Amino acid sequence: MTNQHSRAYWEERLAGLLLARGHFIDGRGQPAVSGRTFTRTRPMDGQPGAVLARGDAADVDRAVAAARTAFASGVWRGKEPLEKKRIMLRWAELIRVHGEELALLETLDVGKPVQASLGVDVRLCAEGIQYYGEMIDKMYDEIAPTGPKARALVRKVPLGVVAAITPWNYPMIIDAWKLGPAIAAGNSVVLKPAEQSSLSALRLAELAIEAGLPAGVFNVVTGFGEEVGKPLALHMDVDMVAFTGSTEVGKLVMGYAAQSNLKRVALELGGKSPLVVFADADLDAAASAAAWGCFYNSGETCHAATRLLVQRPVQDALIEKIEAVVRREIVLAHPFEPSAQIGALIEAEHMDKVLGLVAAGEKDGGRRVFGAERVLSETGGYYVSPGVITDVTNDMRIARQEIFGPVLAAIAFDTEEEALAIANDTIYGLAGAVFTRDMDRAHRFSEGIHAGTVWINTYDMSNFATPFGGFKQSGFGRDRSVHAIDKYCDYKTIWQQFG
Ligand code: NAD
Repeated sequence: MTNQHSRAYWEERLAGLLLARGHFIDGRGQPAVSGRTFTRTRPMDGQPGAVLARGDAADVDRAVAAARTAFASGVWRGKEPLEKKRIMLRWAELIRVHGEELALLETLDVGKPVQASLGVDVRLCAEGIQYYGEMIDKMYDEIAPTGPKARALVRKVPLGVVAAITPWNYPMIIDAWKLGPAIAAGNSVVLKPAEQSSLSALRLAELAIEAGLPAGVFNVVTGFGEEVGKPLALHMDVDMVAFTGSTEVGKLVMGYAAQSNLKRVALELGGKSPLVVFADADLDAAASAAAWGCFYNSGETCHAATRLLVQRPVQDALIEKIEAVVRREIVLAHPFEPSAQIGALIEAEHMDKVLGLVAAGEKDGGRRVFGAERVLSETGGYYVSPGVITDVTNDMRIARQEIFGPVLAAIAFDTEEEALAIANDTIYGLAGAVFTRDMDRAHRFSEGIHAGTVWINTYDMSNFATPFGGFKQSGFGRDRSVHAIDKYCDYKTIWQQFG
């Protein structure tokens, strides 16, 4: 992943961007019904960024009505499968064509290096839309075994109006994880992006229209969780809510569904994933995986490997190697710098939360070996250096709470049994990894970790063919893969008796 462009190139492109945006409802930009707006602060330098429509229940009503009208008319779900596929593939292509602009918008909102936004986020967003577009003309319904006197068709039908509520850490990728299968299945969508990161969603909606998606099929309402997310999840005319975010808000969303119309719910929530290193492991590979697995995207990753479980005899050697990987490879810099591998955290309050948990870790008896402190403060941005805290025990706050920052908590263990108990001693179950040269142990251990994804001697490998999601309080329902379509559909049985 190399960025061909200089910082000056991105600064110049930034000057030409339209950053005052309304909602996107029924195929066009619209101001909030109330006329209110809010201003996003740029994480990279603390300066004012986009000015966005501040939505509330009235805007949600308008967007849901547009989505319902589009669904009821059959303007999208009634199209020939081949035509729907062409539109989604065109949309994916437009995302690629406008990749630099989308990457810039994402970086402006999130503070991640623009080269990562371009090489990872834009690429995976386009791949997601393409993957589900390609499925459209390959999905079959079923005929149930009934005997010769009757026929029962088992049809897989779209639900209707899907609400998608998404977080700020990988906005474009997570939007695509929901938009791709929901729209490919024939639904209409109202997307509420995180208030910190709305720009890429608004541009994706414009590109969808340009690709030929009918107005009203994909709507975006911007604003805050309580003001937009809550009325959306409580709405009586929304059939499903697909949520990615914190476990705390996920529980609220489930409650809203129960209080309103029993809409279906899918939840992709938090994590506190263990990366377990046995003494016989390839320590260089483990150090690289631990560093990148925890520090990529400044640790703002739901499945970040924030708990390093290391067998006691190799603990010091492994920590030294992790520090060497950080110094050698993980350049923290302004997101427009071509050298930047990680950038700023999302906002000042979040940076304070991360630093507060580091302080709690030290107070509880942990030892800060390097990093985990604010840097580049003279830029006005919210930068925290990658760091490691050792001497952590699994009952400390830094081992239990999701930190969502570039901080690794190292916990020593002696036996395999003890390591598995610590790995599973968490409310979360999103991901985990085991490093060992003993393949029997690797497989035994990977079966034992109670998590949606487990890696052996690697971390963070993924592609669209594999389902992603959690166990326990990391949620339920899966994004990605052919299986993701299922949660946006339901089965309908049609019987016919023969005379
Ligand atoms: P968050 O829960 O604060 O917000 C997520 C979304 O919910 C935002 O759009 C927000 O505006 C909205 N929201 C907030 N309050 C709401 C309410 N009362 N009703 C309805 N919507 C509301 O999470 P965040 O800080 O944006 O993102 C970080 C979290 O997301 C972390 O916990 C992370 O682990 C999780 N996450 C999970 C996955 C996954 O696939 N499992 C992926 C990315 C992020």
